[in-house]
Amino acid sequence: MIDLGECDYLIVGAGATTLAFLDTLVTELPDDTKFVLVDKKAAPGGHWIDSYGYVQLHQPSIVYGIASKQLEGNWLKCMLTQFMMPWNHRANKIEILKYFADFVEENKKQIDFYSDSVYDFEKSNEDVHFFSSMDGSVSYKVKVNVKLIDGSANENIVPHNSPLQFPVDEEVRVMTTNQVYDAHNENQKEMRTNKYVVLGAGKTGMDAVVYLQRTMKIDPVDIAWVISQDVWMSSLNGGGSPKSHSILLLKYDNDMQKAALEGEEQRSIVRLDKDIMPTVFKFPLVSDEELKLYRNVKTIIRRGRATAIRRRANSKDDDDDGVVVEFGSGDDHSPWEAFAPIDKCVFVHATSPGPFVGSFTAYQPDHQEKKEKETPSIGIFNSEKKMTLNLLFEPPISISVSCLAKIEASRNKGTLDLECMKRLMLARMKMKGEEEKSSSSIDSREDNNNNYTENEMLDALLQQYELTAARPMLNLAVFLSICDKDPLVSMKWMKQNRLAFLGSIPGFKCHVCNGVQKFITKGIIDGKKVGLTEQDMRMLEPMKEQIQPLEGM
Ligand SMILES: Cc1cc2nc3c(=O)[nH]c(=O)nc-3n(C[C@H](O)[C@H](O)[C@H](O)COP(=O)(O)OP(=O)(O)OC[C@H]3O[C@@H](n4cnc5c(N)ncnc54)[C@H](O)[C@@H]3O)c2cc1C
Repeated sequence: MIDLGECDYLIVGAGATTLAFLDTLVTELPDDTKFVLVDKKAAPGGHWIDSYGYVQLHQPSIVYGIASKQLEGNWLKCMLTQFMMPWNHRANKIEILKYFADFVEENKKQIDFYSDSVYDFEKSNEDVHFFSSMDGSVSYKVKVNVKLIDGSANENIVPHNSPLQFPVDEEVRVMTTNQVYDAHNENQKEMRTNKYVVLGAGKTGMDAVVYLQRTMKIDPVDIAWVISQDVWMSSLNGGGSPKSHSILLLKYDNDMQKAALEGEEQRSIVRLDKDIMPTVFKFPLVSDEELKLYRNVKTIIRRGRATAIRRRANSKDDDDDGVVVEFGSGDDHSPWEAFAPIDKCVFVHATSPGPFVGSFTAYQPDHQEKKEKETPSIGIFNSEKKMTLNLLFEPPISISVSCLAKIEASRNKGTLDLECMKRLMLARMKMKGEEEKSSSSIDSREDNNNNYTENEMLDALLQQYELTAARPMLNLAVFLSICDKDPLVSMKWMKQNRLAFLGSIPGFKCHVCNGVQKFITKGIIDGKKVGLTEQDMRMLEPMKEQIQPLEGM
């Protein structure tokens, strides 16, 4: 066992989430703050390392990555050498991996990076932490003075690392998107003679449909697509942003269907087929060209989730064996006989769930009732010595975790507005006993003596994002209220942060005062419908007073 001595922060995972968090901490805290960063993979970058070769950001690079460095690079260079306006830049896998690796390398005086190493959640305790190399040959021990930062909560398990979760007969040709990319690079001719069945309609499945047509030049009649549920998507060309949805949700009291239909009219929200009402909203941003390529595919199989892929032995007068996809449940779950013989039919495995699959992005009409039945969130401010990184606002995650790091740095430096936090807490706790209990431990605590710790207050005030009209705006209002004694200072920080719309889009306003005022007006009648709890509603008035200097911004 190697004893590494002490560090200030131990960070689990070196994906986009933790790197954005770490970058802000490095910027905000003194140069002698020591970080130990541990990841199972060989390099920084998380899921991007294992993603298919043609993967690319689906939203502009200008709001993704870390705050201290532009992912799109120098704007003039971007225009002169790539002939591209910087806000149209969407980084590819190579660019993203280099960007993250450079950040860790450039800060190696402060960051000790242990690649190919796994953190041991079971064995570690609040002060002493353990991790070991992936092959188990080396074990490490380190004392953590400030905090453990868990950035593994939204780990993306990409199809490449997770085989299909149902039986598949041996002869069936299944390829991950990575394998399709490699095989096409090796033998384009052979790959063009196949027919393809894409399994899954998340980001990976959508990218596969585009790659097959755009790069491999597969005729769309030779592509079939198994879609278990249709999703609402954001339009890249229609000026859509994840923010548009919160605004529409507020207008329609969280009724996803009405909000999405108006978004569709405004062209900020799109769906694959206008005759089919999606049941889920996820956050892919798709361009008009990509949407056209998806719609080119006419063989769409909507029979729920596939449960098996079987060889179908040939009949006497038929030379080739066929292949059949079986489905489990749903109105029509009859088997689908694929359109090519087994040796010419490639199943493209794109079925891993991807990130943020939990309840909080399931944007459904009965969202409110569903939510109540689901397990409570794991929270962010778990204890004085542990934080779990999660979203505060709509994806991309980068700005959420940069704000969390700013809060952590302010807490560390003693510049949080504790008085304001107490005022908000007291307002939340007023008339205790009459309201339903919230998932937050402090809001349901019986022995309220008002002596809340900083962590308890943060845990109650800043809650994990959920797809409701109110939560993202409320989190923003809380952040601006408490991060510094002067909300103008927090706002200035936000405006200078390239990861925030406020920072990256000239003239963009967050209208936070307006938002809080709207919640106050709505709260009396139907606050719950937009996702506000009783406790949230009670802190709106003192919060409005606190952020008053931000009126009009
Ligand atoms: C194909 C694809 C495309 C995407 N495109 C976009 C996009 O364009 N825009 C966008 O905003 N989002 C996109 N996403 C979402 C993406 O998940 C987030 O942007 C972000 O990368 C999530 O990063 P993460 O760090 O939370 O997770 P990951 O990238 O999965 O990183 C988690 C890391 O934690 C490590 N880890 C886990 N447990 C341990 C342990 N015990 N010990 C040590 N290490 C551990 C893992 O090895 C991993 O490296 C995409 C996702 C996928 C799959």
